[in-house]
Amino acid sequence: MTLPRSAFGQTSLDLARTAYRDISLYAPDRTPCAVDLSDNTNLLGVPPSALATLRASAESDITRYPSLYAADLKFALAEYCGADPSEIVTGCGSDDILDSATRAFAEPGDTIAFPDPSFAMIPIFARMNGLCPIAIPLSADCDIDADAFVTSGARIVYLCSPNNPTGTIAGDAAVRRVIDGARGLVIIDEAYAEFSGTSWIDTARNRERVLVVRTLSKAFGLAGLRVGYAIGAPALVAEVEKSRGPYKVSSLAERAAVAALRADREWVSAHIAEVVVNRERFADALRGLGLAPVPSRANFVLVPVADAEAIGASMRRAGVAVRPMPGLRGIGDALRISIGPWSMMERAIGALEESLACV
Ligand code: PMP
Repeated sequence: MTLPRSAFGQTSLDLARTAYRDISLYAPDRTPCAVDLSDNTNLLGVPPSALATLRASAESDITRYPSLYAADLKFALAEYCGADPSEIVTGCGSDDILDSATRAFAEPGDTIAFPDPSFAMIPIFARMNGLCPIAIPLSADCDIDADAFVTSGARIVYLCSPNNPTGTIAGDAAVRRVIDGARGLVIIDEAYAEFSGTSWIDTARNRERVLVVRTLSKAFGLAGLRVGYAIGAPALVAEVEKSRGPYKVSSLAERAAVAALRADREWVSAHIAEVVVNRERFADALRGLGLAPVPSRANFVLVPVADAEAIGASMRRAGVAVRPMPGLRGIGDALRISIGPWSMMERAIGALEESLACV
Protein backbone atom coordinates (compact mmCIF):
# COMPACT_ATOMS: atom_id res chain seq x y z
CA MET A 1 0.00 0.00 0.00
CA THR A 2 1.34 3.47 -0.86
CA LEU A 3 0.87 6.06 1.83
CA PRO A 4 0.07 9.66 0.81
CA ARG A 5 3.12 11.96 0.92
CA SER A 6 2.96 15.28 2.74
CA ALA A 7 4.49 18.58 1.71
CA PHE A 8 7.58 17.62 3.72
CA GLY A 9 8.14 14.45 1.73
CA GLN A 10 7.21 12.29 4.69
CA THR A 11 4.40 9.77 4.62
CA SER A 12 1.41 10.41 6.85
CA LEU A 13 2.52 7.50 8.97
CA ASP A 14 6.00 9.05 9.46
CA LEU A 15 4.36 12.29 10.47
CA ALA A 16 1.97 10.64 12.86
CA ARG A 17 4.86 8.73 14.49
CA THR A 18 6.97 11.88 14.87
CA ALA A 19 3.91 13.67 16.22
CA TYR A 20 3.40 11.05 18.89
CA ARG A 21 6.98 11.30 20.07
CA ASP A 22 6.58 15.06 20.19
CA ILE A 23 3.51 15.39 22.37
CA SER A 24 3.49 15.46 26.09
CA LEU A 25 0.76 13.50 27.79
CA TYR A 26 -2.19 15.56 29.04
CA ALA A 27 -1.96 14.73 32.73
CA PRO A 28 -3.24 17.39 35.14
CA ASP A 29 -3.11 16.49 38.84
CA ARG A 30 -6.41 14.75 39.55
CA THR A 31 -5.59 13.45 43.04
CA PRO A 32 -8.81 13.68 45.07
CA CYS A 33 -9.05 16.85 47.17
CA ALA A 34 -11.71 18.03 49.67
CA VAL A 35 -12.74 20.91 47.39
CA ASP A 36 -11.96 20.37 43.71
CA LEU A 37 -12.11 23.58 41.68
CA SER A 38 -9.71 22.34 39.01
CA ASP A 39 -11.72 21.07 36.06
CA ASN A 40 -14.61 23.48 35.41
CA THR A 41 -17.34 20.86 35.84
CA ASN A 42 -20.71 21.50 37.51
CA LEU A 43 -20.03 21.51 41.26
CA LEU A 44 -23.69 21.92 42.15
CA GLY A 45 -24.83 18.33 41.56
CA VAL A 46 -26.36 16.05 38.92
CA PRO A 47 -29.50 17.01 36.97
CA PRO A 48 -32.25 15.01 38.75
CA SER A 49 -33.92 13.36 35.72
CA ALA A 50 -30.55 12.26 34.38
CA LEU A 51 -29.76 10.64 37.73
CA ALA A 52 -33.17 8.94 37.95
CA THR A 53 -32.70 7.58 34.41
CA LEU A 54 -29.30 6.13 35.29
CA ARG A 55 -30.68 4.53 38.45
CA ALA A 56 -33.52 2.92 36.47
CA SER A 57 -31.26 1.59 33.72
CA ALA A 58 -32.08 -1.77 32.15
CA GLU A 59 -29.71 -4.74 31.73
CA SER A 60 -29.92 -4.29 27.99
CA ASP A 61 -28.38 -0.81 28.38
CA ILE A 62 -25.27 -2.67 29.44
CA THR A 63 -25.35 -5.92 27.45
CA ARG A 64 -26.40 -4.47 24.08
CA TYR A 65 -24.58 -2.02 21.83
CA PRO A 66 -25.87 1.54 21.91
CA SER A 67 -27.53 3.16 18.89
CA LEU A 68 -25.12 3.71 16.01
CA TYR A 69 -25.14 7.51 15.86
CA ALA A 70 -27.25 8.49 18.90
CA ALA A 71 -30.40 9.47 16.98
CA ASP A 72 -32.52 10.15 20.10
CA LEU A 73 -29.80 12.35 21.51
CA LYS A 74 -29.57 14.28 18.25
CA PHE A 75 -33.30 15.02 18.41
CA ALA A 76 -33.09 16.23 22.02
CA LEU A 77 -30.01 18.35 21.25
CA ALA A 78 -31.66 19.80 18.15
CA GLU A 79 -34.64 20.88 20.28
CA TYR A 80 -32.29 22.42 22.86
CA CYS A 81 -30.21 24.30 20.27
CA GLY A 82 -33.02 25.34 17.94
CA ALA A 83 -31.46 23.30 15.12
CA ASP A 84 -32.39 20.36 12.93
CA PRO A 85 -31.16 16.85 13.91
CA SER A 86 -29.38 16.66 10.53
CA GLU A 87 -27.22 19.59 11.71
CA ILE A 88 -25.96 17.74 14.81
CA VAL A 89 -23.14 15.26 15.39
CA THR A 90 -22.50 13.71 18.81
CA GLY A 91 -19.39 12.20 20.34
CA CYS A 92 -17.66 10.76 23.39
CA GLY A 93 -17.22 14.19 24.94
CA SER A 94 -16.49 17.25 22.82
CA ASP A 95 -12.84 16.11 22.84
CA ASP A 96 -13.94 13.34 20.50
CA ILE A 97 -15.65 15.83 18.17
CA LEU A 98 -12.58 18.10 18.10
CA ASP A 99 -10.32 15.15 17.34
CA SER A 100 -12.65 13.76 14.65
CA ALA A 101 -13.14 17.18 13.01
CA THR A 102 -9.36 17.66 12.91
CA ARG A 103 -9.04 14.34 11.11
CA ALA A 104 -12.00 14.97 8.81
CA PHE A 105 -10.95 18.35 7.44
CA ALA A 106 -7.15 18.24 7.26
CA GLU A 107 -4.41 15.98 5.97
CA PRO A 108 -1.19 15.21 7.82
CA GLY A 109 1.16 18.16 7.25
CA ASP A 110 -1.71 20.71 7.14
CA THR A 111 -1.93 23.50 9.70
CA ILE A 112 -4.37 24.31 12.49
CA ALA A 113 -4.32 27.81 14.02
CA PHE A 114 -5.54 28.40 17.55
CA PRO A 115 -5.39 31.23 20.10
CA ASP A 116 -2.65 31.18 22.72
CA PRO A 117 -3.45 30.62 25.50
CA SER A 118 -6.45 28.38 24.83
CA PHE A 119 -7.65 24.81 25.33
CA ALA A 120 -4.54 22.70 25.99
CA MET A 121 -5.84 19.71 24.01
CA ILE A 122 -5.82 21.49 20.64
CA PRO A 123 -2.07 21.24 19.91
CA ILE A 124 -2.22 17.67 21.22
CA PHE A 125 -5.06 16.68 18.85
CA ALA A 126 -3.17 18.48 16.08
CA ARG A 127 -0.05 16.41 16.59
CA MET A 128 -2.00 13.19 17.14
CA ASN A 129 -3.42 13.70 13.65
CA GLY A 130 -0.11 14.77 12.07
CA LEU A 131 -1.06 18.47 11.76
CA CYS A 132 1.21 21.44 12.46
CA PRO A 133 -0.20 23.64 15.23
CA ILE A 134 0.11 27.44 14.85
CA ALA A 135 -0.34 29.33 18.12
CA ILE A 136 -1.67 32.87 17.61
CA PRO A 137 -1.26 35.11 20.68
CA LEU A 138 -4.36 36.69 22.18
CA SER A 139 -4.38 40.50 22.22
CA ALA A 140 -3.67 42.37 25.48
CA ASP A 141 -7.42 42.42 26.26
CA CYS A 142 -7.62 38.65 25.55
CA ASP A 143 -9.48 38.97 22.23
CA ILE A 144 -8.50 36.95 19.16
CA ASP A 145 -6.19 38.46 16.54
CA ALA A 146 -8.47 38.07 13.51
CA ASP A 147 -5.91 39.28 10.96
CA ALA A 148 -3.29 36.81 12.18
CA PHE A 149 -5.78 33.95 11.88
CA VAL A 150 -6.73 34.93 8.34
CA THR A 151 -3.15 35.47 7.15
CA SER A 152 -2.04 32.17 8.73
CA GLY A 153 -3.87 30.48 5.85
CA ALA A 154 -4.44 27.54 8.20
CA ARG A 155 -6.53 24.63 6.96
CA ILE A 156 -8.43 24.67 10.26
CA VAL A 157 -8.99 27.62 12.58
CA TYR A 158 -9.94 26.81 16.18
CA LEU A 159 -11.58 29.51 18.30
CA CYS A 160 -12.86 29.08 21.83
CA SER A 161 -15.52 31.37 23.26
CA PRO A 162 -15.63 31.73 26.22
CA ASN A 163 -11.98 30.84 26.02
CA ASN A 164 -10.39 28.32 28.36
CA PRO A 165 -8.36 29.40 30.39
CA THR A 166 -9.02 33.16 30.15
CA GLY A 167 -12.84 32.99 30.38
CA THR A 168 -13.09 35.81 27.83
CA ILE A 169 -15.34 35.80 24.78
CA ALA A 170 -14.06 36.44 21.26
CA GLY A 171 -15.31 39.77 19.85
CA ASP A 172 -18.15 39.59 17.31
CA ALA A 173 -16.36 41.58 14.61
CA ALA A 174 -13.17 39.53 14.99
CA VAL A 175 -15.03 36.20 14.71
CA ARG A 176 -16.92 37.38 11.64
CA ARG A 177 -13.68 38.49 10.02
CA VAL A 178 -12.12 35.08 10.67
CA ILE A 179 -15.17 33.26 9.29
CA ASP A 180 -15.18 35.41 6.13
CA GLY A 181 -11.42 35.17 5.55
CA ALA A 182 -10.52 31.64 6.64
CA ARG A 183 -9.33 29.18 4.04
CA GLY A 184 -10.95 26.07 5.52
CA LEU A 185 -12.95 24.92 8.52
CA VAL A 186 -13.63 27.30 11.43
CA ILE A 187 -14.31 25.53 14.71
CA ILE A 188 -15.88 27.58 17.50
CA ASP A 189 -15.60 25.72 20.79
CA GLU A 190 -18.52 26.74 23.02
CA ALA A 191 -17.93 24.34 25.93
CA TYR A 192 -18.78 27.22 28.32
CA ALA A 193 -21.34 29.10 26.21
CA GLU A 194 -24.21 28.58 28.66
CA PHE A 195 -22.40 30.78 31.21
CA SER A 196 -21.89 33.62 28.75
CA GLY A 197 -25.30 33.88 27.08
CA THR A 198 -23.57 34.14 23.67
CA SER A 199 -23.44 31.62 20.83
CA TRP A 200 -22.49 31.21 17.17
CA ILE A 201 -24.99 28.40 16.53
CA ASP A 202 -27.13 30.51 14.14
CA THR A 203 -24.05 31.39 12.10
CA ALA A 204 -22.93 27.76 11.98
CA ARG A 205 -26.36 26.76 10.65
CA ASN A 206 -26.12 29.31 7.87
CA ARG A 207 -22.54 28.81 6.72
CA GLU A 208 -20.89 25.86 5.04
CA ARG A 209 -17.64 25.71 7.00
CA VAL A 210 -18.41 26.74 10.58
CA LEU A 211 -18.68 24.08 13.26
CA VAL A 212 -19.85 25.01 16.78
CA VAL A 213 -18.65 22.42 19.29
CA ARG A 214 -20.42 21.98 22.63
CA THR A 215 -20.59 19.64 25.60
CA LEU A 216 -22.86 18.39 28.36
CA SER A 217 -19.80 18.19 30.66
CA LYS A 218 -20.02 21.73 32.02
CA ALA A 219 -23.42 23.43 32.53
CA PHE A 220 -25.25 20.07 32.43
CA GLY A 221 -22.90 18.40 34.92
CA LEU A 222 -22.49 15.15 32.95
CA ALA A 223 -18.70 15.11 32.45
CA GLY A 224 -18.38 11.50 33.61
CA LEU A 225 -20.85 10.33 30.95
CA ARG A 226 -18.78 11.90 28.12
CA VAL A 227 -21.36 13.54 25.86
CA GLY A 228 -20.27 16.16 23.36
CA TYR A 229 -21.87 17.48 20.19
CA ALA A 230 -21.44 19.90 17.34
CA ILE A 231 -23.75 21.95 15.16
CA GLY A 232 -23.06 22.81 11.53
CA ALA A 233 -24.29 22.36 7.97
CA PRO A 234 -25.57 18.79 7.37
CA ALA A 235 -22.76 18.00 4.89
CA LEU A 236 -20.17 19.25 7.38
CA VAL A 237 -21.40 17.28 10.39
CA ALA A 238 -21.72 14.19 8.18
CA GLU A 239 -17.96 14.38 7.51
CA VAL A 240 -17.23 14.59 11.23
CA GLU A 241 -19.50 11.61 11.83
CA LYS A 242 -17.65 9.59 9.19
CA SER A 243 -14.28 10.23 10.78
CA ARG A 244 -15.72 9.64 14.25
CA GLY A 245 -17.27 6.24 13.62
CA PRO A 246 -20.27 4.50 15.28
CA TYR A 247 -21.10 3.70 18.93
CA LYS A 248 -19.27 6.64 20.49
CA VAL A 249 -22.04 7.53 22.96
CA SER A 250 -22.95 4.73 25.38
CA SER A 251 -26.62 3.74 25.90
CA LEU A 252 -26.59 4.96 29.50
CA ALA A 253 -25.02 8.27 28.54
CA GLU A 254 -27.49 8.79 25.71
CA ARG A 255 -30.55 8.06 27.84
CA ALA A 256 -29.39 10.22 30.76
CA ALA A 257 -28.44 13.07 28.43
CA VAL A 258 -31.84 12.97 26.70
CA ALA A 259 -33.56 13.03 30.10
CA ALA A 260 -31.50 16.04 31.21
CA LEU A 261 -32.13 17.92 27.97
CA ARG A 262 -35.88 17.28 28.08
CA ALA A 263 -36.68 17.46 31.80
CA ASP A 264 -33.87 19.24 33.66
CA ARG A 265 -33.62 22.54 31.80
CA GLU A 266 -34.95 24.61 34.71
CA TRP A 267 -32.55 22.89 37.08
CA VAL A 268 -29.65 23.62 34.76
CA SER A 269 -30.70 27.28 34.26
CA ALA A 270 -30.97 27.84 38.01
CA HIS A 271 -27.47 26.46 38.49
CA ILE A 272 -26.02 28.56 35.69
CA ALA A 273 -27.54 31.65 37.33
CA GLU A 274 -26.00 30.68 40.68
CA VAL A 275 -22.57 30.19 39.09
CA VAL A 276 -22.75 33.59 37.39
CA VAL A 277 -23.60 35.32 40.69
CA ASN A 278 -20.83 33.45 42.53
CA ARG A 279 -18.32 34.19 39.76
CA GLU A 280 -18.80 37.94 40.12
CA ARG A 281 -18.72 37.73 43.92
CA PHE A 282 -15.56 35.62 43.79
CA ALA A 283 -13.87 38.06 41.38
CA ASP A 284 -14.66 40.88 43.84
CA ALA A 285 -13.13 38.84 46.66
CA LEU A 286 -9.98 38.26 44.56
CA ARG A 287 -9.71 41.99 43.92
CA GLY A 288 -10.08 42.42 47.70
CA LEU A 289 -6.90 40.33 48.05
CA GLY A 290 -5.08 42.75 45.75
CA LEU A 291 -5.27 40.43 42.71
CA ALA A 292 -6.48 41.26 39.19
CA PRO A 293 -8.68 38.42 37.87
CA VAL A 294 -9.38 38.37 34.13
CA PRO A 295 -13.07 39.35 33.63
CA SER A 296 -14.76 35.99 32.97
CA ARG A 297 -17.88 34.91 31.05
CA ALA A 298 -17.42 31.24 31.93
CA ASN A 299 -17.75 29.05 35.05
CA PHE A 300 -14.16 29.71 36.11
CA VAL A 301 -11.89 32.65 36.77
CA LEU A 302 -8.26 33.08 35.73
CA VAL A 303 -6.22 35.06 38.21
CA PRO A 304 -2.56 35.99 37.66
CA VAL A 305 -0.27 35.22 40.63
CA ALA A 306 3.49 35.34 41.18
CA ASP A 307 4.18 31.59 41.35
CA ALA A 308 1.26 29.44 40.16
CA GLU A 309 2.82 26.03 40.91
CA ALA A 310 3.81 26.94 44.47
CA ILE A 311 0.52 28.63 45.30
CA GLY A 312 -1.49 25.82 43.68
CA ALA A 313 0.46 23.23 45.72
CA SER A 314 -0.05 25.20 48.93
CA MET A 315 -3.81 25.52 48.26
CA ARG A 316 -3.97 21.78 47.63
CA ARG A 317 -2.36 21.14 51.01
CA ALA A 318 -5.10 23.32 52.48
CA GLY A 319 -7.70 21.07 50.80
CA VAL A 320 -8.55 23.15 47.73
CA ALA A 321 -7.52 22.01 44.23
CA VAL A 322 -7.23 24.66 41.52
CA ARG A 323 -5.42 24.48 38.14
CA PRO A 324 -2.01 26.15 38.17
CA MET A 325 -1.19 27.64 34.77
CA PRO A 326 2.48 28.60 34.74
CA GLY A 327 3.88 30.94 32.09
CA LEU A 328 0.77 31.68 30.02
CA ARG A 329 1.67 33.74 26.99
CA GLY A 330 0.95 37.45 27.58
CA ILE A 331 -0.30 36.74 31.11
CA GLY A 332 2.45 34.92 33.00
CA ASP A 333 1.68 32.61 35.91
CA ALA A 334 -1.99 32.26 36.82
CA LEU A 335 -4.48 30.03 38.63
CA ARG A 336 -7.66 28.86 36.93
CA ILE A 337 -10.35 28.42 39.56
CA SER A 338 -13.76 26.82 38.85
CA ILE A 339 -16.86 28.40 40.32
CA GLY A 340 -19.14 26.33 42.55
CA PRO A 341 -21.39 26.84 45.56
CA TRP A 342 -20.40 29.82 47.69
CA SER A 343 -19.23 27.60 50.57
CA MET A 344 -16.54 26.17 48.24
CA MET A 345 -15.53 29.61 47.02
CA GLU A 346 -15.08 30.75 50.63
CA ARG A 347 -12.73 27.81 51.20
CA ALA A 348 -10.84 28.82 48.06
CA ILE A 349 -10.47 32.43 49.20
CA GLY A 350 -9.22 31.29 52.62
CA ALA A 351 -6.69 28.85 51.11
CA LEU A 352 -5.51 31.42 48.56
CA GLU A 353 -5.09 34.16 51.14
CA GLU A 354 -3.05 31.83 53.39
CA SER A 355 -0.94 30.61 50.44
CA LEU A 356 -0.21 34.13 49.19
CA ALA A 357 1.03 35.02 52.66
CA CYS A 358 3.37 32.04 53.02
CA VAL A 359 4.66 31.24 49.50
N1 PMP B 1 -13.37 22.38 25.06
C1 PMP B 1 -12.96 23.12 26.10
C2 PMP B 1 -12.69 24.57 25.89
C3 PMP B 1 -12.77 22.54 27.35
O1 PMP B 1 -12.34 23.28 28.37
C4 PMP B 1 -13.03 21.15 27.50
C5 PMP B 1 -12.83 20.42 28.81
N2 PMP B 1 -12.02 20.92 29.71
C6 PMP B 1 -13.44 20.44 26.39
C7 PMP B 1 -13.62 21.08 25.17
C8 PMP B 1 -13.69 18.95 26.44
O2 PMP B 1 -14.80 18.67 27.19
P1 PMP B 1 -15.54 17.27 27.07
O3 PMP B 1 -14.67 16.34 26.29
O4 PMP B 1 -15.76 16.84 28.47
O5 PMP B 1 -16.82 17.55 26.35
